[in-house]
Amino acid sequence: MDLSTPLTYVKGVGPARAAMLEAKGLTAVEDLLGYVPFRYEDRSNVKTIAQLAPGEMATVMAEVVSSMASGFKRRKLGLFEARFSDASRAILVGKWFHGDYLAKVLTDGLRVALFGKVEFDNYTGELQMLHPEFEVLSEDGEGGEAGESALHVGRVVPIYEATGKLTTRILRTLIHRVLAELEPLEDPLPRFLLEPLKLPNRWTAIRQTHFPPPDSDLRLLNNFRSPAQFRLIFEEFFWLECGIALKRAKARSLPGIAFTLDDRVREQIKAMLPFKPTGAQRRVIQEIANDMKQPRPMNRLLQGDVGSGKTIVAAEAAVIAVENGYQVAVLAPTEILAAQHAVYFKQILSKLGYVTLLLTGSSSSREKTQLKKLLAEGLAHVALGTHALLEKDVEFHKLGLAIIDEQHRFGVLQRLGMVQKGVHPDVLVMTATPIPRTLSMTLYGDLDVSTIDELPPGRKPIVTKHATADAVEQVYSFLKRQVDEGRQAYVVYPVIEESESQAMKAAEQMYDHLSRLVFPDLAIGLMHGRLGADEKEAAMQRFKQGQTQILVSTTVIEVGVDVPNASVMVVEQAERFGLAQLHQLRGRVGRGAAQSYCILVTEKMNDAARQRIRTLVDSTDGFYIAEMDLKLRGPGEFFGTKQSGLPSLRVANILRDTEILEIARREAVSFVAGPAGDELRNAVAYIRDHWQRRYGLVMVG
Ligand code: ADP
Ligand code: MG
Repeated sequence: MDLSTPLTYVKGVGPARAAMLEAKGLTAVEDLLGYVPFRYEDRSNVKTIAQLAPGEMATVMAEVVSSMASGFKRRKLGLFEARFSDASRAILVGKWFHGDYLAKVLTDGLRVALFGKVEFDNYTGELQMLHPEFEVLSEDGEGGEAGESALHVGRVVPIYEATGKLTTRILRTLIHRVLAELEPLEDPLPRFLLEPLKLPNRWTAIRQTHFPPPDSDLRLLNNFRSPAQFRLIFEEFFWLECGIALKRAKARSLPGIAFTLDDRVREQIKAMLPFKPTGAQRRVIQEIANDMKQPRPMNRLLQGDVGSGKTIVAAEAAVIAVENGYQVAVLAPTEILAAQHAVYFKQILSKLGYVTLLLTGSSSSREKTQLKKLLAEGLAHVALGTHALLEKDVEFHKLGLAIIDEQHRFGVLQRLGMVQKGVHPDVLVMTATPIPRTLSMTLYGDLDVSTIDELPPGRKPIVTKHATADAVEQVYSFLKRQVDEGRQAYVVYPVIEESESQAMKAAEQMYDHLSRLVFPDLAIGLMHGRLGADEKEAAMQRFKQGQTQILVSTTVIEVGVDVPNASVMVVEQAERFGLAQLHQLRGRVGRGAAQSYCILVTEKMNDAARQRIRTLVDSTDGFYIAEMDLKLRGPGEFFGTKQSGLPSLRVANILRDTEILEIARREAVSFVAGPAGDELRNAVAYIRDHWQRRYGLVMVG
């Protein structure tokens, strides 16, 4: 048996269990070893019931004598009681509130291990445990092998996240079997790290993480900071950071375009700028220009909250490229955004005589052919578009700069796809999802980061209010007053058709409702994803030019849309939206001089939704909101692993283990930058092998 052995070869894993394991992403021995306990219990204090003393934490092994869910009042609480006894013949009562479901589990005669705090019930004079942890000892057929029953009690016991029939007990037994069969594993970490960081070797770390030695500190274990756990977390981060550092080094060793930035180019930029850039904008364009001058490809991330003015910075970079005789591609995630960029870039760049064009999925094929010809022959300077720009037959004459807007919507591969249209062009990616620095260094590890941390002048903070659906009339009359003062407004809905559930209002229906009944004398527009590109564009233009006063829309307007006169954003059924999404939506207003408002209308809220709404009402700081989002959703969902290119971590948790990530990052960077000896060569080979299997596509070295 070795790490790659399929779990079906492990004794006790039949087809049914194999399927359950696979559903959890566990197919090989290595996966199972990486499935670490999420908490531990000290079950070393094993007693008979007669020996129990009130106040202590203890484990007993006992049999169910009887059980009931009794009493009128109690039934309402769902109180479930089971009486247990053992060889000492004394009785222990286990009580579970809302425990009705246990009636089917804790049947008479069943043998279990109970773990919990012993209490004395003053009323009945009996010993009891409230909500004890328990594990069935006799039913699942495990524990029959010599020594295996000792795994579950009488020690610090690992608790695994179980699902359905795959109990913590089965997982514990299987992992123990695997550990018993395996030869001690080699340690792939460079040796020089082990000593100073006091890291146990890998084999020890894996075994002790699953089965902690008797003198283990339970508090450390449950905080994931035992030496063994620390080592595994460190290791995972270390390889990840090495991979990133190698990729970074490789990207920086490629020959790139050294753009010149002389007075003539500076004059052109000045002529193009429609307003005076903020200090932050000047600083980041300086950083970008410095990169562009280097004879190596730029790989830079430009982050800045919604409305911070990233677009004009991108336009400045575009001018540098075009003045040097190169073409520029601007990739946007949606047609609306691409179209809007196209209008914007055309408006400011045609002053300089540049030819811009827009290529999207809904361009007709005749149109496409023409556009592609212009690009291939170098007659167009700036191409804006959606994924359509990435298509194979889109060729550039001389692509020098690729700008990718709202990076979080694109995967790493798409970034590569864009880059391959030129010969090592410079790359500028832009995102409005600010994330903590350590995380951005990992997520965007191969990118340098520039941050716009200042809003354009004269912006008034957006006022955010929460309203419940029964107060929607007031919201509408507020809307009306704003429109009467010359402002415009968005009303956003979660879906476009009343499809899945009756509860969902449809934007189309609401458009009808609003335009006929609520605001019969206002001009209302409708925008949603199923309109054709021309219709979308037209609806957007009418709104931009003020011909429509209220735009009823789905979230297609979420990113990038820029209409400064719009000052009210009403989000209906706001409880259905995520935090980042709501922040993006809110970012559609507050772009002009007038005071702007965001009104979040909710129907039914759960706790999570309530927290999201509160976060938005309390803050307009994208940084804070992103952190809350990360906290509320957890790293997996927040990053959308596959999309972002961040590999899924097994043991480590990027939120919980930030300080270990920092250590690992520091070590990895100096290791990769160090002398290219055997250790580094081995590490590169190890990462390549490993990452292929675990992450598939990440390319290193
Ligand atoms: P985002 O960073 O969300 O992409 P945009 O680039 O769309 O932001 O800019 C938001 C709005 O602010 C636009 O209307 C833009 O013209 C305006 N803007 C950007 N920078 C400045 C500035 N320095 N002075 C005045 N207005 C600005
Ligand atoms: Mg933008």
